[in-house]
Amino acid sequence: YSAKKSAEHIMFYDSSMSEQAEHRLKLLGELRHAQNLGQFSLYYQPIVKLSDGAVAGAEALLRWQKTPSEMLEASDFVALLEETGLIVSVGNWVLEQACKQAAAWREQHSPDFVISVNVSPMQLEHLDFPMQVEQVLASTQLPPQALMLEITESALLMHPQQARITLAKLRTMGIQVAIDDFGTGFSSLSRLGHMPIDSLKIDGEFARELQHQRGQALCQAIIQLSQALGLHFVAEGIETMQQKEQLLAMGDGLAQGFLFGYPLHAQQFSLTHFHPHIIQRVN
Ligand code: C2E
Ligand code: MG
Ligand code: MG
Ligand code: MG
Repeated sequence: YSAKKSAEHIMFYDSSMSEQAEHRLKLLGELRHAQNLGQFSLYYQPIVKLSDGAVAGAEALLRWQKTPSEMLEASDFVALLEETGLIVSVGNWVLEQACKQAAAWREQHSPDFVISVNVSPMQLEHLDFPMQVEQVLASTQLPPQALMLEITESALLMHPQQARITLAKLRTMGIQVAIDDFGTGFSSLSRLGHMPIDSLKIDGEFARELQHQRGQALCQAIIQLSQALGLHFVAEGIETMQQKEQLLAMGDGLAQGFLFGYPLHAQQFSLTHFHPHIIQRVN
């Protein structure tokens, strides 16, 4: 009886495994056509000053309109884009699109607006990446200081030597560089001190831990580290007023999270953050 039971269990497990594999394969097939079908778009999430909530810029986040009624967030498919190498061409499109939008917003609304763009390790590996960025800046007329490239801590760990050279080139061009998801990848602190970067983006995990004393200690330590290294910080994943107040007491910096704004498509972002009076009148 128990043998039969475990056999059933295995069969059940097997079928759900192959269902998962099938689902993944189907998704991959669809992903390959998504760019040609124009199904990708960018959403923008505000990055604000902790001290007064003023919008300093935004992060561009990739979205996939898979069907008219189904939109996937980056966390659902960016890993697949990376596995297939599609991230290189999609990433290029993201960069160009985001720079174009930022140039328009700087001209129309906010002359100091900074756009943050996520860069995959695979893009960084290409030796001509800095040149590609330079071309995009030239074609979109965006000044280099208005662009912040975000590299995850784990990407830096993979190829630290080459990453350092490429990041140094980008910074020489005047572009800003941030380490994304900081605090989750165990980077060597001695290496961090030598990295040509401008900002640390403190992973949202730390904001969530702010209700515990240990989490407060960790946030305080990371903010002090950023100050000691002469870096700016952006606290990610801020969802409550209390988190905002706690961080502000630790140091003045930037913040991002649902408290200040959800990721929105460009038009909605503009209405919400550049024309708030229009929305007020509608209400
Ligand atoms: P990330 O760069 O750390 O981006 C922040 C993620 O946290 C976004 O998820 C955003 O929607 C979410 N988020 C923002 N505020 C809050 C909050 O207050 N609470 C919570 N719980 N979540 C919040 P998303 O858009 O799904 O992106 C996931 C990751 O995918 C990004 O993490 C980034 O690493 C990657 N990604 C997004 N767009 C691109 C892209 O164009 N290229 C590459 N290479 N990676 C991208
Ligand atoms: Mg990011
Ligand atoms: Mg991040
Ligand atoms: Mg994160």
